[in-house]
Amino acid sequence: MILVSSCLAGLEVRYNGTHSLDERIQNLLEEGQAVTVCPELLGGFITPREPAEIQGGDGEDVLRGTAKVIEKSGRDVTQMYVDGAQRTLIKARELGATMVILKEYSPSCGSAVIYNGKFADQKTAGVGVTTALLRQHGIQVVSETTWLGSMQEQDRS
Ligand code: SF4
Repeated sequence: MILVSSCLAGLEVRYNGTHSLDERIQNLLEEGQAVTVCPELLGGFITPREPAEIQGGDGEDVLRGTAKVIEKSGRDVTQMYVDGAQRTLIKARELGATMVILKEYSPSCGSAVIYNGKFADQKTAGVGVTTALLRQHGIQVVSETTWLGSMQEQDRS
């Protein structure tokens, strides 16, 4: 079973009430191969919500306690992001997920690139909080742009 970001499956759960539909991922759901998860909703947020970015590092640093997740108006929401990551890990384990496909650039779900914490539409290398926690526990996390390559590699091995 594959766990996928809810917004990639077309659910309107992004901070601004929109989705990030990827039809290939929606197909996985329709074929019964995938289940959706939104770490931010699991962490206690609602939609819509304020945009947030990681300041002082990336998701690894948040888990280490050296970076924080801050909303645009300045509220520290780090604990809610960590809670969402932990609940996503529980869900992935319950499902026995072999792969997790998460939305790139998100402070929760990014797996290679995130926003740089300045709320200036600038990106930087780094991972989101949920991706960091899942990888720390040995779960493979890819993005909507890299997952097909990962599946082909698995087929070859
Ligand atoms: Fe939820 Fe992740 Fe999509 Fe953000 S990127 S809306 S946390 S599933």
